[in-house]
Amino acid sequence: MVQNFSTRAVHVGSHPDPTTGAVIPPISLSTTFAQTYPGKPIGEYEYSRSSNPNRTSFEQVLASLENGKYGLAFSSGSATTAVVLQSLEIGSHIISIGDVYGGTHRYFTKVANTHGVDSVFAQNIVEELPSLIKPNTKLIWVEGISNPTLSVTDLSKVKQIIKESGKEDILLVVDNTFASPYITNPLDFGADIVVHSATKFINGHSDVVLGVAVTNSGEIYKRLTFLQNAVGAIPSPFDSWLAHRGVKTLPLRVKQSSESAQKIAEFLESSESVQAVNYPGLKTHAGYEIAQRQHRNGLGGGVVSFRIKGDKEVAAKFTQSTKLFTLAESLGGIESLLEVPSIMTHAGIPIEDREKSGVYDNLIRLSVGIEDTEDLIEDIKQALESASK
Ligand SMILES: *Cc1c(COP(=O)(O)O)cnc(C)c1O
Repeated sequence: MVQNFSTRAVHVGSHPDPTTGAVIPPISLSTTFAQTYPGKPIGEYEYSRSSNPNRTSFEQVLASLENGKYGLAFSSGSATTAVVLQSLEIGSHIISIGDVYGGTHRYFTKVANTHGVDSVFAQNIVEELPSLIKPNTKLIWVEGISNPTLSVTDLSKVKQIIKESGKEDILLVVDNTFASPYITNPLDFGADIVVHSATKFINGHSDVVLGVAVTNSGEIYKRLTFLQNAVGAIPSPFDSWLAHRGVKTLPLRVKQSSESAQKIAEFLESSESVQAVNYPGLKTHAGYEIAQRQHRNGLGGGVVSFRIKGDKEVAAKFTQSTKLFTLAESLGGIESLLEVPSIMTHAGIPIEDREKSGVYDNLIRLSVGIEDTEDLIEDIKQALESASK
């Protein structure tokens, strides 16, 4: 029986404990597992860096939710990126979207290059890709929904360009953090590996840092499993258990956040105090059509960004005026957050590059939580009034 998304979120990897009947699997803290004979462990586990019951359970549910065969968990989204990059040989070339997550940009330009892996960034990847592919290009890195301008990449088109280039060994990697597996499943659109900062929507409660990679390829899985063990950037049993608990409510949380975000985006678009709104659920958004095809029910996700009328002082004043939205980095938790990318998450990027990607000084990013929609809109309304005074 093929089960639907929410059913799989609750049941995959979560079975009553066979010895005690505990409905929720216990946290397995043991670092080592008994063997009956040298090299013959009692069960499937030997040593907790190589694999651990709580990590396995979490990896299984994530693989299922991303419509993949294999899942691998890491100690953070950044560790996931590092391990995927370490799987490339010296002399490899990467093509990335221009407005890639800051930490990923940092890894590409300050770490991967010191290991002989070079990267290039494209403002419009679909247009520029054919001319950027080189004989040593091994990997293309895109984000399902990008940060903080929420542009959407047409994955089938990227896959088609790879095919037409005749270099079908190029891997397409999609960082699906901003969308979450509930909104879209990149493997269905041709991605070879999908990665997440599970710190965000997947765990969903702003209390675990964790990452995950999912693939359908046995060969990629083998390589990444080797590195997961060799590098050792693995999550603890407790964090795996917490993230597994969190992901069971992913569909409910993301549905609520996304519905509120849509209404907030529409409200902002109609406000006199707002210059522009970025949200893939709005018809005015450049990625609207792609989102309609690539996203579940055309949902836009739980993040909205907008330019308030005025300068960065006005943007800062807005962040001082909200009562429900907390001023903080990160996203994807049950509580609403807001930030000013030009001063916070994207402060390290030179202003010309920043503005080319749409990250202006007056841009504000909202991570919409699961509070009541009317309360959130009311909060934004009063903060816009205070900021514009
Ligand atoms: C947060 C984030 C990461 C990094 O994940 P960590 O868990 O913080 O290491 C990578 N990609 C995106 C899109 C993110 O938002």
